[in-house]
Amino acid sequence: MPGFELFSDLERKEVKDVLDNGVLMRYGFDGMRNGHWKAKELESELAKTFQSKHVQLVSSGTAAVSVALASAGIGAGDEVIMPTFTFVASFEAIMMLGAIPVLVDIDDTLTLDPKAVEEAITSKTKAVMVVQMCGSMGDMNALNEICDRHNLIFVEDACQAIGGTYNNKPLGSIADVGCFSFDFVKTITCGEGGAVVTNNQEYYLNADHYSDHGHDHVGKDRGAETHPFLGYNFRISELNAAVGLAQVRRLPEFIAIQKKNYTVIREALSKVDGVTFRRVPEGGEESYAFLNFFLPNLEIAREVSKAFKENGIDVCFHYYDNNWHYIRKWEHLKELKSLFPVSKEVKEGLKYLETKTYEQSDAHIARNISCLIKLSWSEEEVLQRASKMAEIVDSFTS
Ligand SMILES: *Cc1c(COP(=O)(O)O)cnc(C)c1O
Repeated sequence: MPGFELFSDLERKEVKDVLDNGVLMRYGFDGMRNGHWKAKELESELAKTFQSKHVQLVSSGTAAVSVALASAGIGAGDEVIMPTFTFVASFEAIMMLGAIPVLVDIDDTLTLDPKAVEEAITSKTKAVMVVQMCGSMGDMNALNEICDRHNLIFVEDACQAIGGTYNNKPLGSIADVGCFSFDFVKTITCGEGGAVVTNNQEYYLNADHYSDHGHDHVGKDRGAETHPFLGYNFRISELNAAVGLAQVRRLPEFIAIQKKNYTVIREALSKVDGVTFRRVPEGGEESYAFLNFFLPNLEIAREVSKAFKENGIDVCFHYYDNNWHYIRKWEHLKELKSLFPVSKEVKEGLKYLETKTYEQSDAHIARNISCLIKLSWSEEEVLQRASKMAEIVDSFTS
């Protein structure tokens, strides 16, 4: 997955343009910049890549989720439904607005279970956020239909699925508003960066203003711009955008490499008894950033994970025992350990986490192993890795 593995002269050239004119800021300084507008150029490249009308770059994927929700008017006391298996950024971005994350079970797609979503809807629910984990996706038709029927905003976190598609549409472009991360380990990177993607002009303009102190970006004098509403600073810098600009142009190359490497490993594991793969919804094509498979039970998954590590098979994760991606280890959320006072609504809204259990999610995550697909492996390395992995898994399942 990480685009940094293949940094080249293309990235260096874009960064050099920025350093040569010295304007590291994405807005203003028109006279100094020698025609270089890296953030703007990256936004139009991303709009093409994600076949969407509008793109707003921001400083991170976490910022993208917060800005997307704020742009759709979500805030204090509103409930946002999200999955138990994701990255901590998902609930952080919701809570930053004073809204309440409502965590629900995943299914064998490793993303939101539509049934669990429907059961969690209350009069306070404002949005449903699907997280397209590990290169694949939720059942977008079913989730879209639920959001339509209950008049909810549908948000798509596609940070880990850049380049995947559903019914030939790019992931991140399907819901009302999509979010991407270009942090250092994502398929395309800016170092740090993110994007809000939407066809909704109002959400876009809100995101454009909100991520830059509420500036309306009318005219050529920043000091004379008005502030239609309050905002914050979630801007990306020109240096970060320059790296992303070179990377996004290489996305087709990156996806082709991921697909090739993924396929070799998948074919080897397919021959092993007791291995099954995550379900990809009909009409979906993964980004091939990860290969996810299930083993017969938790004990075997733990043993295989340990044996992978001992035998040099790196970048494979057993998320059941991982602090970052699965609710089991999120004590800081469950105990609401905040540096500063939290609102009464959020305190009450999160009380359910003291007692709620997630057997269905546990059953999937306990048996799952998720392997990152690297871009820099040689053909030889992929073949060796694939046969080693198959051999190890087979020794525990046969
Ligand atoms: C990486 C990631 C984010 C956050 O992105 P940052 O740019 O690191 O803030 C959000 N959601 C998911 C699913 C991610 O993988």
